[in-house]
Amino acid sequence: MFLARDATSRLLLTGAPGKLASVTRTPAGRLKTLSVRWVDANNQRVSRLVVQRQNGEYTSRLEQPTPRRLVQFGSLTLRSSFYAATEQAGIPDAIAEQALEAFAGDIDFQRDLPRGARFSMVYEAFELDGEILFTGQLLGAEIQSGKQTHQAMWYQAPGKTGEFVSLDGSSQRRAYLASPLAFSRITSSYGPRIHPVLGEQKAHKGTDYGAPAGTPIRTVADGVVTFSGWQGGYGNYVVIRHPDQAATAYAHLGRIAVRRGQRVEQGQTIGTVGSTGTATGPNLHFEYLVKGERTNPSRIASNSSASTVVIPNLPGFKKEAKAIREQLIMAASVAQSNAQ
Ligand SMILES: [Zn+2]
Repeated sequence: MFLARDATSRLLLTGAPGKLASVTRTPAGRLKTLSVRWVDANNQRVSRLVVQRQNGEYTSRLEQPTPRRLVQFGSLTLRSSFYAATEQAGIPDAIAEQALEAFAGDIDFQRDLPRGARFSMVYEAFELDGEILFTGQLLGAEIQSGKQTHQAMWYQAPGKTGEFVSLDGSSQRRAYLASPLAFSRITSSYGPRIHPVLGEQKAHKGTDYGAPAGTPIRTVADGVVTFSGWQGGYGNYVVIRHPDQAATAYAHLGRIAVRRGQRVEQGQTIGTVGSTGTATGPNLHFEYLVKGERTNPSRIASNSSASTVVIPNLPGFKKEAKAIREQLIMAASVAQSNAQ
């Protein structure tokens, strides 16, 4: 059989699943062309194998068509869960996750994601033959919640790697992340716990996040581990001192992944959620200490300054920011017309 003999066609039998095939036939019903397309989403490449019959002979060729870049708008209003809303709005997970990342210094999504909050997003998508094959970069995003509006855009300064910045040009990267747990499909249905464990009540000035055992815990800022080990009711406990001398502490860990004296970088995994010490179930007890005093962790985001410089004067920035601002308005209006 031709497909098995031909070296190019043998590509069909290897590689990732999810190949899409189409066939055309002659009026007499004989195979004219066989076209199979597959996508390598990691490096965003499309391959197409075409087998053609001409003058009684089969030939094959491998093409790498370039998909067309589109700018898509999407928006959603939170009614129940974040991921239910993204699905309903047809926003791909890869885009939603970039939006969560863009605002990781502003919002603890585990704790501060109220019903009625509205997300608008502008993002790249790549199309071939009328079909969206994959999405790319989130270009702009807005979260509107009550009176608060957060906006961010992707910006790549000449010769630099891209990053999320606010529309006035300051970096979205902060000295502190707003949450020690990354918001995900797994953690999103747990959220913070209202009731502290009885034995912990006296000392309780922190936030308890319910999450499945084994969920990675990340340090919210750069720092040095000043405690790592067992501490009474806290069970497995880690304390990290940060450059501004504030500290964060993480309790009831299942597994500790850092040792005393170790330097850690923002976002690094320091252990996993567990239920060691006085805990009724898997949860992370998280503390924020300023000058040694336990302080409400919801202060972190407002205390946290941007970690890099403002860049509004770089060439082209203002124009890009203006375009994103306009596109975000359009994205929001798309949602409103959908809702009506
Ligand atoms: Zn607690």
